[in-house]
Amino acid sequence: MKKEKIIIVGAGLCGSLLALRLAQHGYQIELIEKRPDMRKASISAGRSINLAFSDRGMKGISLVGLAEKVNELCIPMHGRMLHDQAGNSQLSKYSGRKGEYINSISRGGLNSLLLDEVEKHANVKMYFNYNCTDVNVENASAKFVHNETSEVLNLEADFLFGTDGAGSVVRKSMMKNPNLLFSFSQNFLTHGYKELSFPPTDNGNYATEKGALHIWPRGENMLIALPNLDGSFTVTLFLAYEGGKYNFNNLTNPEIVDEYFKEVYPDAYALMPDLKTEYFENPTAPLGTVRCLPWHFEKTLIMGDAAHAIVPFYGQGMNASFEDVFVFDQILQEEEFDLNTSFERFSKERKKDGDAIADLALDNFHEMKAHTAQEVFLAKRKLELELEEKFPNEYYSKYSLVTFKEDIPYSEAIQQGRAQDLVIQEMIKKGLLPEDMSLEDKLNRIKKATKMAMNNELIFNLEEI
Ligand SMILES: Cc1cc2nc3c(=O)[nH]c(=O)nc-3n(C[C@H](O)[C@H](O)[C@H](O)COP(=O)(O)OP(=O)(O)OC[C@H]3O[C@@H](n4cnc5c(N)ncnc54)[C@H](O)[C@@H]3O)c2cc1C
Repeated sequence: MKKEKIIIVGAGLCGSLLALRLAQHGYQIELIEKRPDMRKASISAGRSINLAFSDRGMKGISLVGLAEKVNELCIPMHGRMLHDQAGNSQLSKYSGRKGEYINSISRGGLNSLLLDEVEKHANVKMYFNYNCTDVNVENASAKFVHNETSEVLNLEADFLFGTDGAGSVVRKSMMKNPNLLFSFSQNFLTHGYKELSFPPTDNGNYATEKGALHIWPRGENMLIALPNLDGSFTVTLFLAYEGGKYNFNNLTNPEIVDEYFKEVYPDAYALMPDLKTEYFENPTAPLGTVRCLPWHFEKTLIMGDAAHAIVPFYGQGMNASFEDVFVFDQILQEEEFDLNTSFERFSKERKKDGDAIADLALDNFHEMKAHTAQEVFLAKRKLELELEEKFPNEYYSKYSLVTFKEDIPYSEAIQQGRAQDLVIQEMIKKGLLPEDMSLEDKLNRIKKATKMAMNNELIFNLEEI
């Protein structure tokens, strides 16, 4: 049994998984959460009722032995179901390899399962309803105030983790420390999001195809929908705050909301009987990217969204946070449970992957709302699926590298994926991958040009490859 005492601030997805893993190693854990215990109180998940869960997330979950239990919460989504304005739909599979898909999972269900498992460990003490207001990052002590009674709780430990999300108080305490040169940036998108829903049909069935992530790409804006276990879908509208005919700032009354959805998303509109109520009851929330450096100082380390909050368009924020726990655990074992060295190594070694997934998520924002419906994009996807099917061990699209190839870091996936995307799109536009060329020749051409692009060699003369 390891004697060191550890404070973990924030029992969201990352903090709960981290607490479980460190408890399994025998550390003395105090896990403190600002909100009430979600397993007892009926609290709104706050944001994104369901999430896309994939292989990097599963790596963290498998580490703590919960793969089977988590699988029971999953609904497989095999591809993107693209819906055009005329009401036509088309499935674009996520991968040409067999058995590669992503899942829709309930945030509350997953977080509750993790808390149940944490609670089984006698070496963990959990506190709910305590808001962390201040952290001494040099000596791992923190102040918490009870939300209802205002009782103050001062805790001290040997080490402290901040897994308190995008608005992290632990990160802010690092920023305030005069002994640390802390770099920080926060960038908001011009778009916000709002959650809506498709209820189940009268006989309890799903209102549309269950096994897909639905997207209604409309140039600047889009609607997406993910299935829930109860037969409903959680629908998210991503819309600009201003500009264009419709935006969050001018959708101010039920008539105009009705008009917007009828005009722009007619088939989805037909599945939303509660649209107008939900639109005005549910909050509109901003979307942003947080980057900072370093992620550790003295006895404190931040992880998950606290270290790298990203926009949700790759469905990777939670997956990256779970992968953080996996990577940290690997380092911890390599360092024979020396937490000082592990903090330093994690902060240095993982940062580039946090940056990479932040950039990839921004790439996908543009791809999902606009490109998914474009001809070149569709032709590229068709070819990539054929390559993945015929050469499953040799070809991985950018999406597959990020989502299904959990044995390579995000920082490698972005390099190869971006180069590949550029090369294929250019080759398609220039007619360099004609129908009558064999798939093998296409693969070789793409691989050669990708390698050159990754080595920063100019590829003006793609024709010569
Ligand atoms: C609209 C949307 C859709 C998303 N979709 C996906 C998706 O499909 N797939 C995916 O992988 N990711 C997705 N994400 C990202 C994902 O939600 C986050 O990356 C993930 O929740 C990060 O986990 P975390 O534990 O680091 O932070 P959080 O989940 O934010 O948890 C932080 C916890 O800390 C607590 N806390 C905060 N402040 C304090 C304090 N002062 N004191 C004590 N406790 C505190 C909070 O109450 C919370 O419980 C999405 C995000 C959004 C906004």
